[in-house]
Amino acid sequence: MPVNVLFAAQPDRWAQYEAPLRSALDALDLDYVLTTDLPAAKVDYIVYAPNSAVQDFRPYTRLKAVLNLWAGVEGVVGNHTLTVPLARMVDDEGLTQGMVEWVTGHVLRHHLGMDAHIVNPDHLWQNTPPPLSRDRPVAILGFGALGQACAAALTALGFPVRGWSRSGHAQTGVQSFAGAEGIDAALTGAQIVVLLLPDTPQTRDVLNARTLALTAPGAVIINPGRGPLIDDSALLAALDSGQISHATLDVFRTEPLPADDPYWTHPQVTVTPHIASETRSDSASRVVAENIRRGEAGEPFLHLVDRDAGY
Ligand code: NAP
Repeated sequence: MPVNVLFAAQPDRWAQYEAPLRSALDALDLDYVLTTDLPAAKVDYIVYAPNSAVQDFRPYTRLKAVLNLWAGVEGVVGNHTLTVPLARMVDDEGLTQGMVEWVTGHVLRHHLGMDAHIVNPDHLWQNTPPPLSRDRPVAILGFGALGQACAAALTALGFPVRGWSRSGHAQTGVQSFAGAEGIDAALTGAQIVVLLLPDTPQTRDVLNARTLALTAPGAVIINPGRGPLIDDSALLAALDSGQISHATLDVFRTEPLPADDPYWTHPQVTVTPHIASETRSDSASRVVAENIRRGEAGEPFLHLVDRDAGY
């Protein structure tokens, strides 16, 4: 009997994913069916995006796993109709590389003070050179797959990097901080703060009036993580007071960001439309296929979501 794989994402994604998924599944030498339309009771695996039409998993009576195409799982992790293993997207080298490039680019923009030279209508001779990277502490809140990859790139450029996580991951050249008691030390004196945490009840508003005040005066916030990580009113107040000099925000509580949101017009805010990094169909298909191989071989799935922790 073939292994039945249902692709459940926004309809326009099928054209992008069909060929790479077939190619990755063909490499397994597996008898399979891959389609966007299967009777629920016949489906073995769902290749899934949380914004797909599939929201009630109860009819999928022989389902073995849901393989999420996104790194973030806040849109599915609380779905009580889903009782089989849920894996998220990790080790998609395209997704990781995209995030490293986006974060490094925005860190360097602020570190080098590029804006002052790009937009200089009065032709001011602003000849104060920026400090070297070694004098610019960067705190990365959320030190998982993406945070660690960004830290490796930033330490290679010479930035002193602090990484904050629940468990306190160690990484060469990075100062590691853990848990609720570690965040203050990670943020104190940081000049650039990068948010790469998941959206969970524990991480909401992690950047608030109290924690923003710990950063170095004039610090920069870069958020490619999730919108709810930031208390927006506290950030706007910190921008107005000068405690924070700039915020580059890729993610928001409401997306697309409403036209009347103050972030659009704030002179010290850069809005990017949730483009920091995207799952890449070729590399992501190999990750999905490997988990299907494991499921069929009776091996443990990779990248399982801890449903209690929410990520
Ligand atoms: P990950 O590997 O699960 O890493 C998450 C990190 O956050 C881990 O270090 C984890 O600690 C830490 N963490 C979770 N809850 C915490 C808490 N309460 N206190 C302290 N640390 C906590 O996830 P990832 O693959 O790096 O992705 C991170 C996030 O990036 C995703 O959840 C998603 O929201 C976002 N993202 C955005 C885009 C975009 O285009 N903007 C693209 C991809 C991903 P432990 O290491 O101890 O578990």
